[in-house]
Amino acid sequence: KNSTESNDCNQSVKVVIRVRPPLRGEVWDKNIVSISQNTIEIKNGKTRNSESKIFEFENIVLPNENDEFMFNQVKESVNQVMDGKNACIMAYGQTGSGKTYTMNSLIHQALDCLRNIENAEVTIQCLEVYNEQVKNLCASEQNIKNPKEPLESSEIKLKGDWVNEALNYIEEAISRRTTKFTECNERSSRSHAIYTLNFYTNDCFSKIQFVDLAGSERVGKSNVSGETLKEALLINKSLSALQDVISALENKQKHVPYRNSMLTRLLQPTLGGSESSVTMIVNCSPCNDSTNETICSLALASRVK
Ligand code: ADP
Ligand code: MG
Repeated sequence: KNSTESNDCNQSVKVVIRVRPPLRGEVWDKNIVSISQNTIEIKNGKTRNSESKIFEFENIVLPNENDEFMFNQVKESVNQVMDGKNACIMAYGQTGSGKTYTMNSLIHQALDCLRNIENAEVTIQCLEVYNEQVKNLCASEQNIKNPKEPLESSEIKLKGDWVNEALNYIEEAISRRTTKFTECNERSSRSHAIYTLNFYTNDCFSKIQFVDLAGSERVGKSNVSGETLKEALLINKSLSALQDVISALENKQKHVPYRNSMLTRLLQPTLGGSESSVTMIVNCSPCNDSTNETICSLALASRVK
């Protein structure tokens, strides 16, 4: 059943494009992928009439920019968490585009900022959504074996040096994520990871969610079957549910379809509500091999912005 929730929010979604530098052995031909402060132009060399696609964006983080520059793009929304607002920061893109790298560095920098929050009780929750099933990535081994464990009990109280403790939980969570080797022999994430921090103070409650989304690449249906196909279809389903929610929020639609996927259900507290800021980072590789996927990601980003 597709139920909806009423839309009481009036924020828009900030889109940030981050193009990572080429890795050792990769080819970036600047005649094929050319990037400037506000535009990305891609000539798809493979097609005969290699028409070029030009995308314009307000916020592009170029390959030579460092992690501090990237953090500046989300700093305001992180600071607002200290004033009792919610925030959602997510990374979208094909496998290998830099989502995990970007989220890890943003989490470290954001927590360093948030450590100044005063007199707050802080809790953490690390969840993974894989094939529409939720797994608690912070659970003790015993709890992991019991999948019936209610989600409410997956929130863990942090004490003392809570920043350090939170980073330890996240590191452990990362090592527990479901990963597989894809055809191209890359270690690829086929699951969404959601790292949530809750801050309870005397007069308010706020929440920040960091989301490392599953790879957005299209899987050729002819090449895969069984579990891999099921995985791919469910990833597509949840990423399009996310797009539907974002466009409903952006267009100030009365009803937002949060309930269409586990991902959007879990993100509802920070995607919706009247006091939340949402940032969608679209990660891209500048390399020639990735142009088709890069075009797909930028086209999605253009629809959101
Ligand atoms: P994804 O999570 O999207 O699959 P990763 O974050 O694992 O991609 O990044 C793929 C590779 O690129 C990793 O080796 C990572 O260290 C490197 N990388 C990603 N972004 C950057 C960056 N901004 N600067 C340097 N290296 C990066
Ligand atoms: Mg990753």
